[in-house]
Amino acid sequence: MSKKIIIAIDGYSSCGKSTLAKALARKLNYNFIDTGAMYRAITLYFIRNNVRLDEPESVTEALKNVNLHFEFNEEKGKSDMFLNDENVEQYIREMTIAQKVSEVAAIKAVRVSAVKQQQLMGKKKGVVMDGRDIGTVVFPNAELKIFMTADIEIRVKRRFLEMQEQNQNVNIEDVISNLQMRDYIDSNREESPLRQAEDARVLNNSDMSQEQQLNLALKWVEEVLSTKKEMAR
Ligand code: C5P
Repeated sequence: MSKKIIIAIDGYSSCGKSTLAKALARKLNYNFIDTGAMYRAITLYFIRNNVRLDEPESVTEALKNVNLHFEFNEEKGKSDMFLNDENVEQYIREMTIAQKVSEVAAIKAVRVSAVKQQQLMGKKKGVVMDGRDIGTVVFPNAELKIFMTADIEIRVKRRFLEMQEQNQNVNIEDVISNLQMRDYIDSNREESPLRQAEDARVLNNSDMSQEQQLNLALKWVEEVLSTKKEMAR
């Protein structure tokens, strides 16, 4: 029996999902897949090409021209997102994308396309995937599901500092309203809304250091792996 598992991490915006996923992947020598980056790259393509979101045919046609792939960046210790062979990391984290991405991610055709690619990426297991619907839709049979939460003030502060580090000129009110808007759309959309999977383990990291979060998640991985071993006996 394979020792590699799928780790699904879901939760609201800016709960530190990617930070934990990246650390876990490094520790376990797994692939980290940031599914939010995929929805952001699709959004970038739609904005650049003036795709009308209210015209299903235009969306379907546009999706045929969107090729996404990740390439590992040694320096950052994580993969960069490529859209049609262009490294788009620097563009997809901008506020213009954050303001549109939840609307794009709510479109069924967009989700079908992204989920198909995500399922292929996780086929061989050994992945840590973070997003909103990984434990509920993309990998409902993931061996370990983590649902992350954190107090809104903490999430806003983290996101604001992150954007400042990227030299983005934003004010804190814009960050608050963007997080609230995305959480609302993500939780209330018809297509695979953000939900905690019934079998997910909740990690509220409001008062936890990154090291504490990693240690707790590694303990859970250990538990899952030893249960697997027991069952294989
Ligand atoms: O994770 P991140 O904040 O970069 O995701 C950006 C947006 O992409 C989310 O607000 C959500 O609308 C969408 N998303 C999604 N499903 C995922 C990952 C992200 O709908 N699995």
